[in-house]
Amino acid sequence: MRRAFGGAALALGGPVALAAQASPAPARQEKPLIMLDPGHGGHDPGAIALDGYYEKYIALDAGLELRRMLEYTGRYRVAMTRSRDVFVPLDHRVADAMDHKADLFLSLHCDHLPENNLRGASIFTLSNNATDKLAAALAQDENGDDADSRQVASAPPQVADILASLETRATKISSHNLAQDLAASFNGVVPMLPNPTRAANFAVLRDPSTPAALLEMGCLTNKRDESRLRNTAEREKLLWRVTAAINNYFGHAAQRRMAG
Ligand SMILES: [Zn+2]
Repeated sequence: MRRAFGGAALALGGPVALAAQASPAPARQEKPLIMLDPGHGGHDPGAIALDGYYEKYIALDAGLELRRMLEYTGRYRVAMTRSRDVFVPLDHRVADAMDHKADLFLSLHCDHLPENNLRGASIFTLSNNATDKLAAALAQDENGDDADSRQVASAPPQVADILASLETRATKISSHNLAQDLAASFNGVVPMLPNPTRAANFAVLRDPSTPAALLEMGCLTNKRDESRLRNTAEREKLLWRVTAAINNYFGHAAQRRMAG
């Protein structure tokens, strides 16, 4: 649009061109804000590995590393729901993303599964209906005591209701796109569980306005996954793939905007 305006100013000659020159430069579009959410923290250790190591430490290390990587690209602003070993209630994490008007919310976790031989990453998006029993159980674990603490808001007026459902729908589609971009970026590089993109009712993904996913980086109940997740170089390999996926996500979003 700016290019078209510049062309018209040139065609119309001096005074208009001068007026265009005198007007302030258009504000540079703000970089997207990514809210990283390292799971658990403080008195909540999250999953516990076979040798007693806590999920909360891996989630925090990964969050801090991913923040550095995303900032390194120069393309994003990054905020975190926690950057130290503290407990943050799930509804505070959601509110934090809404307050920041985050463009993307990514929760970082490690899985624990009933079978020790199962390993690999998986990516979850929000749904009231879990795709499978395991996903439902996992959401229950990740929600912990917070799950029942959220009050259901009283029904808003009809118009607000329609707008809210449209927003939720757009957010759902974007969240699904993010999950697909993550799985595509991991493919062949990061081990993944069978059917790695699934859905369940995670309290931390309930902000209706922010596309969100919860990444289980691997399984702490699997020895190989645990050593991979605790190894900085291996973890960084995974997080560079997350960075690439986020680049793709915003690249695809721009393409979709231009096409639409
Ligand atoms: Zn967790």
